[in-house]
Amino acid sequence: MKSLFYSRFFILLPWVLIVIIMIDIDTKRSSVRNTAHFYLSRLGSAQREVRTVQTSSATNRTVLPTIYAITPTYSRAVQKAELTRLANTFRQVPQFHWIVVEDSNARTELVSRFLARSGVQYTHLHIFTPRRFKRTGMPRATEQRNAALGWLRMHRSSKDNGVVFFADDDNTYSLELFEEMRSTRRVSVWPVGLVGGRRYERPLVEKGKVVGWYTGWRADRPFAIDMAGFAVNLQVILANPRALFKRRGAKPGMQESDFLKQITRVEDLEPKANNCTQVLVWHTRTEKVNLGNEPKRHQDSVFIEV
Ligand code: UDP
Ligand code: MN
Repeated sequence: MKSLFYSRFFILLPWVLIVIIMIDIDTKRSSVRNTAHFYLSRLGSAQREVRTVQTSSATNRTVLPTIYAITPTYSRAVQKAELTRLANTFRQVPQFHWIVVEDSNARTELVSRFLARSGVQYTHLHIFTPRRFKRTGMPRATEQRNAALGWLRMHRSSKDNGVVFFADDDNTYSLELFEEMRSTRRVSVWPVGLVGGRRYERPLVEKGKVVGWYTGWRADRPFAIDMAGFAVNLQVILANPRALFKRRGAKPGMQESDFLKQITRVEDLEPKANNCTQVLVWHTRTEKVNLGNEPKRHQDSVFIEV
């Protein structure tokens, strides 16, 4: 009897063990499935969250002020390279409108083609600088900047939300700069790197107000700041229709100061870039290219735009 029990027990034991193992595996699998389901559902809701963020940023976009960057530019060997560098930055800035003003009698093919393929929203203008103003020591791009201001005054109204910035074609712009200037209510200011014979120039700020200028050049200027160091709310441009860059009586290097005098006071300036302690834009200047080996007459078998 006892031996019968033992023999049955030993025959059944492996089967019992197999069943136990199978049940165990199955519960583990379903728990894996549950965990996977948990993560997948989390991922799904995360994706939904991302989508909502995108929708809200898409709706935000319509209320984000447009940044109007005014770029005077003229034909020279490095022009397309400069514009390429700018477009690579500007393409990444949301709600951005590039106003490119050529210093020429007509829109050139090179710039027209370039802008059409740039992936940036743009307006393409042109105005030629009279030859008598094209001399060293004379302010540059006065007519071009004024043409852009004229365009804004013609084509934008009190309904439009925007910020205007003067972006020369040879400077270097960080993406953070545009997010800083976007909240400009009247006129905002920030440091500029590699300018005025110093590593940087900057407005000096005390208790959130501009109280002076750190500059190595003509500190007596009312606004001792480079063109790349300020932005103006579009409504300030529209409310001061006569504010322009001046040729008559303009002294070299006084363009910015003369312009800002017409639209604001130093105590009303809004300091950006962490109370003007960060450099987010650089007044870089491109070296004149050496074309010493360029043949007098075209020798290549094809014409290549550079
Ligand atoms: N510029 C122009 N016509 C000129 C010289 C300059 O339209 O005859 C533009 C130039 O492309 C740049 C801006 O004016 O966007 C300032 O010129 P530049 O960079 O030579 O001035 P700087 O940096 O020396 O102040
Ligand atoms: Mn420059």
